[in-house]
Amino acid sequence: MTTTYTKISDSVKVKFTASMVDYKKDFACGMPVTAGIEDTCHYKGKVYGFCAKECKDEFLKKPESYLKAK
Ligand SMILES: [Zn+2]
Repeated sequence: MTTTYTKISDSVKVKFTASMVDYKKDFACGMPVTAGIEDTCHYKGKVYGFCAKECKDEFLKKPESYLKAK
C-alpha cells in the first residue's frame, strides 16, 4: 500500500501580517507595515513590525529616540 503526500514546500516561511503587530507603522523608515512585514521585534510589551531586517536593527539601536520622534 502506497501513501502519497502532497509536498507543500521545503521551507515554509512565516508570514507576518499587520494584525500581528501593535503598530501599523515601521518606526525605522516610516512605512506602513500593511505593505508587508519582513521582521518583527518585541519591545516593552509591544510588537513592532518592520519592512526589512535592517529596519529592525536600526530601531533596536535606539528604540526610545524612534518612539519619541513619532
Ligand atoms: Zn522599514
